[in-house]
Amino acid sequence: MPKKGSAMFNGERALERHAAIVTGASSGIGLAVAEALATAGAAVVVNYHSDREAADELVERIVAREGRAIAVQADVSDETGVVRLFDTAAEAFGRIDVLVSNSGVQKDAAVADMSLADWNTVIDINLTGQFLCAREAVRRFSTQPQEGRPARSAGTIIAMSSVHEVIPWAGHINYAAAKGGIRMLTRSLAQEVAADGIRVNAIAPGAIRTPINKDAWDSDAALENLLRLIPYGRIGEPEDVARAAVWLASDQADYITGTTLFVDGGMSLYPEFRDNG
Ligand code: BGC
Repeated sequence: MPKKGSAMFNGERALERHAAIVTGASSGIGLAVAEALATAGAAVVVNYHSDREAADELVERIVAREGRAIAVQADVSDETGVVRLFDTAAEAFGRIDVLVSNSGVQKDAAVADMSLADWNTVIDINLTGQFLCAREAVRRFSTQPQEGRPARSAGTIIAMSSVHEVIPWAGHINYAAAKGGIRMLTRSLAQEVAADGIRVNAIAPGAIRTPINKDAWDSDAALENLLRLIPYGRIGEPEDVARAAVWLASDQADYITGTTLFVDGGMSLYPEFRDNG
């Protein structure tokens, strides 16, 4: 018999009675995370920016399986929009326990050709959006009733980072700067709110098969090139990240705060050094 509290992790229903917000959940990693949180029992706010149809479809899929979900439009870089997103979530589900702050874009260019607009867009969505959502989550976590809360923590935040929070990336300085920023935002915020019982972590996906990096995997030549950077020998799937998010959001990860969980098949292990250096 396992000792009390030592049961193996069973993602099934690990998030019963939790309410979660997932930003950027109409495609890619965000969509898979929202679906997995719902399967684990959470009521989920599927935030989207422009693809309402995809968000509605996901909500329908969750509800058809007896889950709870609503779709809410909001631009995470807009202060008022973020407050409205959290207000709508709280009205629908009574409380908020989990934020997966996932929205992100790429606007790639060599530095000499990078417009200020493309710099700003990426910083606004990928970094300032993380600040605005985390700030609102902390405000709610600290003021909503603690009695009857579903988790040991008073709330948990997962910021979707990237291997590029540590791997420099030529031609993508706006994106890498934002992800590097998320690394320190996560750690500093975790330090600030740990005493309030709030956990803050990041997930750093490597190359995951989603629309954002289609060019890197949708031809044999591109995929072969990409696989040289992945010691584990396969591209990641959104579900690889989603499973990590369910675990990190759950009480099974209750003692974990201020860290980044790499879900990258070893991409951040400097594979070029396997037979060099
Ligand atoms: C980027 C992808 C890229 C991956 C690995 C991600 O953060 O969005 O475009 O394939 O990092 O380089």
